Amino acid sequence: MATTTPSWAERAAALVPDGRCLIDGQRRDAANGATFAKHSPIDARLLGAVARGQAADIDAAVASARAAFEDGRWARRAPAARKKVLQAFADKILAAKDELALLETLDMGKPIQFARTMDVPAAARCIQWYAEAIDKVYDEIAPTGPNALALITREAMGVIGCIVPWNYPMIMAAWKLGPALATGNSVVLKPSEKSPYTALRLAELAIEAGLPPGVFNVVPGFGHEAGEALALHPQVDAIGFTGSTRTGRRMLDYAARSNLKRVYNELGGKSAFLVFPDFEDLPRAAKTLAESMFFNQGESCNAPSRVLVHEDIADRFVELLASHAPAWQPADPLAPSTVMGALVDETQLRTVLGYIDAGREQGARCVVGGHQARAETGGYYVEPTVFDGVDPAMKIAQEEIFGPVTSVIRFKDEAQAIAIANGTPYGLQASVWSDHLNRAHRVARALRAGTVHVNQYDEDDITVPFGGYKQSGNGRDKSLHAFDKYTELKTTWVRI
Ligand code: NAD
Repeated sequence: MATTTPSWAERAAALVPDGRCLIDGQRRDAANGATFAKHSPIDARLLGAVARGQAADIDAAVASARAAFEDGRWARRAPAARKKVLQAFADKILAAKDELALLETLDMGKPIQFARTMDVPAAARCIQWYAEAIDKVYDEIAPTGPNALALITREAMGVIGCIVPWNYPMIMAAWKLGPALATGNSVVLKPSEKSPYTALRLAELAIEAGLPPGVFNVVPGFGHEAGEALALHPQVDAIGFTGSTRTGRRMLDYAARSNLKRVYNELGGKSAFLVFPDFEDLPRAAKTLAESMFFNQGESCNAPSRVLVHEDIADRFVELLASHAPAWQPADPLAPSTVMGALVDETQLRTVLGYIDAGREQGARCVVGGHQARAETGGYYVEPTVFDGVDPAMKIAQEEIFGPVTSVIRFKDEAQAIAIANGTPYGLQASVWSDHLNRAHRVARALRAGTVHVNQYDEDDITVPFGGYKQSGNGRDKSLHAFDKYTELKTTWVRI
């Protein structure tokens, strides 16, 4: 008898997500039974009731994490033993690929094809990579005098509070979990209230893979409730935060008001994409820009939302860029071929449309897009949008929009381009497009950004650090450098 594979829409209809906390290895309701309704941005359908974690839930999760850390059930295992569990965790993530991808798409609106081929594999690879790395890191002996031995060792820090955003919920969680768990810490994770489900499933999968109870806890809830309680908690040793610059500022304040816990902030961006007139392959630059800008509905911290183009080639470049817009029209995120999905919620929709209005009001020219789309679905969609004639001081050129809107700013010479590129409070990422070797290096060096691409924008790998200069943050996720965030350096002097 022939069987048919159910469509994503059919699978979505059958899915009943579990929004309860996961504390000490157990699913449980919030202490006072409070919940909040989680709707999907795809069509505003109700996905379920999610635990609205409060200070009491954070207390319980931190106590569980602290107990797990102190008794050494995880921290004192040999790195090779932790590696095995984390490898099994990564395998379970891959085995649950369809379920996790569907949850992610329903929760925050990204196209199912990218959730399956990008988000889930990237989260698994991150856990796998730190698992593989942890038993290959050696400690040091300092070159001191002959009668002393000075050992420099790394020790797990203790309890790590992870607070993450909604744009790449699984990947952002994995970037914290991988290095924090591999080095032996315990974790309390607070996912965004806009995308709580995959973090909760990740914790279940970790426990199924053999992670001891208490080592990885998840408390969903709102920033000003669960988030604040976690960041203020005196038994939390460090906060790994990813989110807006506004909230990152609060993280530093919470630490100052509590126990001076370490705060690693990974914050917003307004990345510049600089195209010089000596760069020949403009079609490739325009295609890369469209892909990088409109991917994930423009809800990427490193989206190239400022396009700085030399005035001699600007008309041609804007035309090329606009020609890609039809391929990025929003469509049903559950349809397998969709490349542009829904914005995360109505607030984000209003914010993005507000910026589009501000661009028009301040005199920028909307070349393509500029409207809400698919309103009949009840979901939150915006057309891919390009503004030309943007002045660097305009709101749309200074503030992070976090939607599919990019601004073209024309420049006259290299010095002006660098000044404009560096002329925002952010410094996350940038790219230089030039066939002139010296210029490419000179400009890359002058840009105040944590990552600079030359003649490309899309390369990415777990092996390289990711983070920002200036108000884009102070930490680095990914690569071996992330181990620095979740370990303390200890010097032990021995007389010999
Ligand atoms: P957000 O700052 O509103 O929220 C991030 C997290 O902080 C959420 O879990 C939220 O509940 C929590 N939170 C909010 N207010 C809080 C408070 N008062 N106390 C404690 N916790 C609080 O950011 P967002 O809208 O979820 O995410 C978008 C932002 O994240 C953008 O600015 C984007 O650039 C940034 N981002 C940065 C990176 C990076 O690596 N640099 C990656 C992804 C996203």
